[in-house]
Amino acid sequence: MLISISFSVVIYQGSVMELNRIEQIQRFRRPSLTLPGIEPDIIEETRGRIIFALSLINLIILGVSGTAGYFLAGRTLKPISEMLENQKLFVSDASHELRTPLTSMKTEIEVALRSKDLDLKETKNLLFSNLEEVNKMQKLANYLLELNKYQSGNGKLSFGKVNLKSIAEKAIKEVQRPVEAKKIKIINKLQNAYVTGNEESLVQLAVILLDNAIKYSLPGKEIIVKTGKTATAGVMEFKDFGLGIRKEDLPHIFERFYRVDISRSKEKTDGYGLGLSIADGIAKLNNGSIKVESKEGKGSIFIVRI
Ligand code: ADP
Repeated sequence: MLISISFSVVIYQGSVMELNRIEQIQRFRRPSLTLPGIEPDIIEETRGRIIFALSLINLIILGVSGTAGYFLAGRTLKPISEMLENQKLFVSDASHELRTPLTSMKTEIEVALRSKDLDLKETKNLLFSNLEEVNKMQKLANYLLELNKYQSGNGKLSFGKVNLKSIAEKAIKEVQRPVEAKKIKIINKLQNAYVTGNEESLVQLAVILLDNAIKYSLPGKEIIVKTGKTATAGVMEFKDFGLGIRKEDLPHIFERFYRVDISRSKEKTDGYGLGLSIADGIAKLNNGSIKVESKEGKGSIFIVRI
């Protein structure tokens, strides 16, 4: 508006000067104003018209730019407001997840302190139960740190030539304990597949997917781990024959804190619904993607392309 008004003032003054000049020339040529020429009221009228036209143009510009500015600013700010909303949701989810173990620890400790004849066995039980809660909180804190580290845009990972085969082997080693505890059989179909990526994060991604495959399988089932190459990418596949995922949950499982059917999964399996969003962040940072195919009751297959 400032630019438009400045231009209008310049145009107005230029026009007025021009009019005055014409008037003076006319006066000079025809000293008697009674003779035909540009008469003073015509000059006044022209001035008025110029002012009217310029004001109208400025008003139109104000209207158009104001309306466009309002809508464009709204559109520009939308992702920012969505991000803030997301952040708020994330903080409230994280606090909620931290509050649950804290409340349970607090209650147990208060009950124990009120008891007058607390013996060693009860104390040990209390400490054991508290330790479980502390472990859960530690896991959540680690997840939150990883989420921050691998969120796209945050991480500056060092890239190099890595073999998906050795990444899968390292991940399988890391999940030995739950594999043995659940008597799961891991079948390897590993082929060399060299890609450019960050080894540490890719091992982490493979551990998350393997961990889930184990967590959501019944004891004694098989898990097939494959690595290989297609024409355009290195591929890692994790196939389980476990619970599977319902069609309506599939689009959401990569969202932060999303857990499928709380009543079904929360009691039986530990977790915060953060694993897959970390895995997704890692895949993206390594210029890759994760695809999932699943049938409820039959099992799931997670395919990572790097
Ligand atoms: P968490 O396992 O901690 O709940 P994730 O982000 O790793 O969180 O997974 C989100 C949800 O996706 C899980 O709650 C689970 O219901 C579902 N899910 C993930 N992997 C599998 C799998 N292999 N089989 C069945 N369900 C799975």
